[in-house]
Formats: sequence, structure tokens, C-alpha cells
Amino acid sequence: METKIRKADRKESFQEAAKILQQGGLVAFPTETVYGLGGNALDGEVAKKIYEAKGRPADNPLIVHIAKKRELLALAEYVPERAWILAEHFWPGPLTMILPKSKKVPYGTTGGLETVAVRMPNHPVALRLIQESGIYIAAPSANISGRPSATMAEHVIEDFQGRIDMVLDGGMVNMGIESTVLDLTEEVPVILRPGCVTKEMLEEVLGEIVTDQAILPENKDKPLQPKAPGMKYKHYAPKAELTIVTGEAEKVQQTINQRITDNLDKGLKTGVITTVENQEMYVGGVVRCIGSREEEGTIARGLYKVLREFDHLQVDCIYAESFIEDSMGEAIMNRLQKAAGYAILQV
Ligand code: AMP
Ligand code: MG
Repeated sequence: METKIRKADRKESFQEAAKILQQGGLVAFPTETVYGLGGNALDGEVAKKIYEAKGRPADNPLIVHIAKKRELLALAEYVPERAWILAEHFWPGPLTMILPKSKKVPYGTTGGLETVAVRMPNHPVALRLIQESGIYIAAPSANISGRPSATMAEHVIEDFQGRIDMVLDGGMVNMGIESTVLDLTEEVPVILRPGCVTKEMLEEVLGEIVTDQAILPENKDKPLQPKAPGMKYKHYAPKAELTIVTGEAEKVQQTINQRITDNLDKGLKTGVITTVENQEMYVGGVVRCIGSREEEGTIARGLYKVLREFDHLQVDCIYAESFIEDSMGEAIMNRLQKAAGYAILQV
């Protein structure tokens, strides 16, 4: 299959993309979080195609993207008051709500579940595509299952050239980390996946919020089943083994430098994930800076790009500094820990 690559700066690109979606094809497009791999959410056969293209297990449901808040009514069997309140505060934006699904939504899209995940993205390209096509777009992150999510069209092309109908290139995304997933089917809403809409932000609006215990790193060895099926899979992983080094900054740097030296002796190449503040501290490794600690947003934005870059640099192993797990840091560490398969070195 030829994958058309079109810049999202002209009318014709949207017309072409809309037509593909209407005919049951797949179009990757930017959102403010990461690129999505989109198809008609109300067509179970299209959902199958999405799973197949991604190599995604069919029990891992897709998020449905809408362009107007009231479109929730078409997808959810019932919309509780608190969903409207959240939509008022956070939509368009990086918050996905889980609600009981309406009959229109096929089980293909929900991975067999009675619930549906819905989000209104805050990106002009995504919103225009949904509106122009008149289609509710099911769009998981546009990466081959298990790989780091795509934050640029180039990443999507790397994974899907020849496997999907079109990539709509809208440049680099703004946030770089997937949406917060919030389950509203429980009495107390549950965070199933942390994201840029933080627990504190949700609590300010709704009161008590809990986090799914199964996704916390301290419970990784307990036999708990995450409520978001996607959270049980290894994810975001670069090809080389990744270890997070945590502890006092100076000790972290010493440890990583020692590993770099030991590896050099063995003829191995070591990648280092660091920040603007610390990048001068490492000697002899392949050092990549993901952003600034002063501005957590830059770290979220740079994470997947750097993980993918290391695949091209063919390093033998990667060490990453760790980040404080406050507000947005929680989402950053969640992704980094999963990418590392929870390999964490405390120094
Ligand atoms: P992605 O599409 O790659 O951003 O991943 C979507 C995430 O939302 C995955 O972790 C899914 O398992 C989760 N998800 C989607 N729909 C549901 C649902 N109905 N119930 C629980 N989790 C869901
Ligand atoms: Mg994903």
C-alpha cells in the first residue's frame, strides 16, 4: 500500500484525509499529546485494521476522538453530570473519560468492553479532521505496539510507511505524553493512566480522585490487573536496555559515568538521558538532553523523541536520570518506568 504523506497546511490535505476516513481507511494525524492512528470508531472492521497495523493486542481498547463536547451523547449510553463538568474544565485537552458505551460503538473499538474512552483533543488539525470527515475517530497512539509513541510525523512514517493510507503532517506535537485516562464508571473516579491533566487538577474540580493501584511502581510485583488493559503491556521501549538511576544528583552522575567507563572498556556504547542542567556532567557516553528541569513540559515533549533517537544511534544500553514524581513528573516517570521495564537503580 502506498502511504500518502500530506502537510496539514492546505485544504486539499484535509479533503483527501476525510475521504479516506469515510471509506474506512486509516489516517495518522497530530493531536496535542502524541500522533494518533485514526479510523472510523463506529466501524468494527476499521478497528480490526487499526489493531493489525499497530500489532496491538485486540483486548486493548481505542480512544474515540470528538470535535464537540455534546458529541459525547452519541458515544456514551449515559453521561453523568461530572463528565460535563470535566469537559467544561479540560476539553479540548489531554483528558480521556471512560463511560458506559452506547449501542453505536462496536466492541471492536472498545476491546470487548461495555465502556468507551472519549476525548476532545486540543489541536487544530485533529479537530478540523474530525469535523471535515464527520467521523468520530478512534485513534490509539500512532506507533507500532510497544514502541515509543510518535511526537513527529517522521516517527509515524518510520513505523507505518506502506501500512496505512495517509500521514497528515502537522509538525511536532505540543505535549509529548499521552492523555490522562479517567474512569468515571466508579463511584470515586479512578485515574487509569497519569497524564498532563494531573490528579491535583482533577481533585480541584471533582473532589476525591483515586489512582488505579495496579499502575503504581511499588505494586509492580503484585498480581493486580490494571483497569486500562493497555497499562499491562511493556511500552514505549527503546531497543537498547534502559535503566533509570535514582538518588542524590551527584551520586547518580558518578554512577552513570562509572558505567560509561566500564562499558567503554568492553567496547560498548552507553546512552545517557539527561537534562539541560546536567548535560555537561557526563564523559564518553552518547548524551542526549530531553529538556529542562525548570520546565517539566519540555521533558514530556522530548522524551519519546530521545528514546527513538537512541534506536538509530545503536547504543548498547541507556541510563536515564530520574525525575520528581510531582504533578506532571508522575506521568513522565510512569512512561519512563514502563520504557525501562521498571529497571531502576537506587544509588
Ligand atoms: P493509546 O490509544 O495508545 O493512547 O492507549 C489508550 C489507553 O486507554 C490504553 O491504556 C487503553 O487500555 C485505555 N483504554 C481505552 N479504552 C478503555 C476503556 N474502555 N476502559 C479502560 N481503559 C481504556
Ligand atoms: Mg499507546
